Amino acid sequence: MSSNTVIISGLGISGLITASLFCKEKLQVHCFEPDDFSKLFEDQRTTAFLNPAINVFKEIGVWENIKPFAQPLKEMEIIDVAGFKKNQGPTSVIFDPNEINLESFGYNIPNKIVSSNLLDFLTEKKNFVLHNGDSLVDHYAFDQNIRVKSAKGKVLEGQLLISCEGRDSAIRKREKISSFKASYNQLAMVFQVSHSENHKDRTSEILDTGGPFTIIPLRSSANQLKSTVVWMDTSEVINEAFNLRKTEFNALITKKSMNIRGQLKLTSRKQKWPVFSQITKALVSKRTILIAESAHVMPPTGAQGLNTSVEDIIYLYQICKKALRSNKDIGADKVLRQYSLVRFPLTGGKVFGVHLLNKISMTKNRFLKTARNNFLKHLNKSPSLKRTLIKVGLG
Ligand SMILES: Cc1cc2nc3c(=O)[nH]c(=O)nc-3n(C[C@H](O)[C@H](O)[C@H](O)COP(=O)(O)OP(=O)(O)OC[C@H]3O[C@@H](n4cnc5c(N)ncnc54)[C@H](O)[C@@H]3O)c2cc1C
Repeated sequence: MSSNTVIISGLGISGLITASLFCKEKLQVHCFEPDDFSKLFEDQRTTAFLNPAINVFKEIGVWENIKPFAQPLKEMEIIDVAGFKKNQGPTSVIFDPNEINLESFGYNIPNKIVSSNLLDFLTEKKNFVLHNGDSLVDHYAFDQNIRVKSAKGKVLEGQLLISCEGRDSAIRKREKISSFKASYNQLAMVFQVSHSENHKDRTSEILDTGGPFTIIPLRSSANQLKSTVVWMDTSEVINEAFNLRKTEFNALITKKSMNIRGQLKLTSRKQKWPVFSQITKALVSKRTILIAESAHVMPPTGAQGLNTSVEDIIYLYQICKKALRSNKDIGADKVLRQYSLVRFPLTGGKVFGVHLLNKISMTKNRFLKTARNNFLKHLNKSPSLKRTLIKVGLG
């Protein structure tokens, strides 16, 4: 049993992507997920997946099924309404993928479409073993393998244990790996809207104080008249808006959106998510690896969270594939050290960068708001700086 077995704990989107890639290898892939999968389908969020993630869906073989629901992200507009002088309009900057010879930045895809397609792919795989309604309660790493014990009394051995358990990873706690955390007293509210004007494949992020109000286009048969909104603001503002009646809520979001898509109308349930940054002080321990939100959590600002997790997964898969091809142990210290050496500085830098971006997007400080506004104006005059920023944003 222990030879060529990988054990994945947690089947959110990151766990599903990891399991799907590892199932392409000659490995037994055991996955533990305590929750019912119906919760995946209640997720109202959509993810702006950048092109590396799309390539992973292609590699797994699920892209053709996902594509009909995927909205190309062609333009990104930032509108700053907070820092301008009273007699001037808001400052706006448009980032166009053509500026770096790309057709699109990626695709906006409903999370439930991604999850259901990956789950369908996995359930057809003979080497995928699902332990649903069960979770790991203990693990012991030895020189040759790792042994795990589940709440339902299952004992398994494998080479590598991968934590995809999300922000409160139990494996991380058992390994006593602590983390740095920054909170912002901020919530992100997510919902879908219909609007009276076409989105024209454009994402618009409106900056004021409290956090960005972002309208992300959705693919729909209704002539580009549907979008997802991620509204980040202080907990007080979001909680108050969350409890409004539909007509008042529609009026408020239309005003928040500055009418750039015409009248907005709520078409889904609303969901709220806490916003914080978190980075663990270590990514690996013996035969154990923390990836995705088990390792790093970022505010939704800049749509980097899951895309960074996909980068983790791609790199882990590449080094494990290489080890497997030369009959080496995928859980060996050398493999995990290599992962940590490469991913630790990259994920740390990303979390810090998004933390700063979030601070700037929510600031109440007059000086910082003016600086933000001036910077955006400067960007409009500097195509090369704009190109550099686009490349940084795309990783
Ligand atoms: C409003 C919002 C918008 C976002 N938009 C974007 C975007 O546009 N682009 C982007 O890149 N990112 C985005 N993100 C970030 C992205 O949604 C998250 O990074 C991603 O959903 C986290 O996935 P995950 O699989 O790592 O964790 P989770 O989704 O939390 O999954 C963890 C899984 O592990 C399970 N689990 C928990 N404990 C245990 C245990 N002890 N044993 C076994 N299993 C366990 C849970 O049940 C769950 O299924 C956004 C986030 C928010 C909040």
